[in-house]
Amino acid sequence: MTGWVAVGGLGPGRNDLVTPEVQAALGEATDIVGYIPYVRRVANRPGLTKHESDNRLELDRAAHALQMAAEGARVVVVSSGDPGVFAMASALFEALEAGPRDWLDLDIRILPGITAMLAAAARLGAPLGHDFAAINLSDNLKPWSLIETRLRAAGEAGFAMAFYNPRSRSRPHQFARALEILREACGGETLISFARAVSTQEESITTVPLNEATQEMADMRTMVIVGNRDTRRIGRFVYTPRSAP
Ligand code: SAH
Repeated sequence: MTGWVAVGGLGPGRNDLVTPEVQAALGEATDIVGYIPYVRRVANRPGLTKHESDNRLELDRAAHALQMAAEGARVVVVSSGDPGVFAMASALFEALEAGPRDWLDLDIRILPGITAMLAAAARLGAPLGHDFAAINLSDNLKPWSLIETRLRAAGEAGFAMAFYNPRSRSRPHQFARALEILREACGGETLISFARAVSTQEESITTVPLNEATQEMADMRTMVIVGNRDTRRIGRFVYTPRSAP
């Protein structure tokens, strides 16, 4: 038996947003590895073993997947959204770099998925229709000062922005600071949208000018999208024109 590892994105929530390529890999797998809620999204079937792990254990999880593939298993490592966006694909390559050299010969594939940013943007209209920057607001893996520098630089350069991991229980006040920087860098009239649990039963979407945004509008299930100075509303939609004045 020849083993392989596929790192697959399950999309933002709804099953019809999982690509056929990822569905096929899940159908051929002997083992599924990932953070508990994502592994639970994969249906049980005979011959499939599920390995659920805690969120912070990305490197252990990736090494485990590579080890099982080296022993002949067909493994899908699951992420939400796209596996290359603040998720398991990079963790897998970090584990590959740190592991035995013969892992380099393994059959490894990264299968793209619909990232939360694109699902949220589509629900709003087209807020990312011009240049934009995607920023992870979690300071788990980088200093908060670097996040502040990047927010300010992106705002002053006129990028629209998409924020992953905007706010958590362990750092509830940093998002208020982020809003302050954005108001200074982008102006208080710039539109900000909060798209929570997109493509699930709990989906909710709100858009306000930065001046009216409060930190409570975001949580860990929210994608935050800030427009550029030309981003506007048309009826119930939010869009950014393709051209810069
Ligand atoms: N790899 C994932 C992102 C992981 S980071 C992807 O490509 O989508 C986790 C963050 O993604 C969350 O804190 C939230 O900001 C965002 N997110 C994930 N699923 C979401 C959804 N259905 N609706 C809104 N935001 C979501």
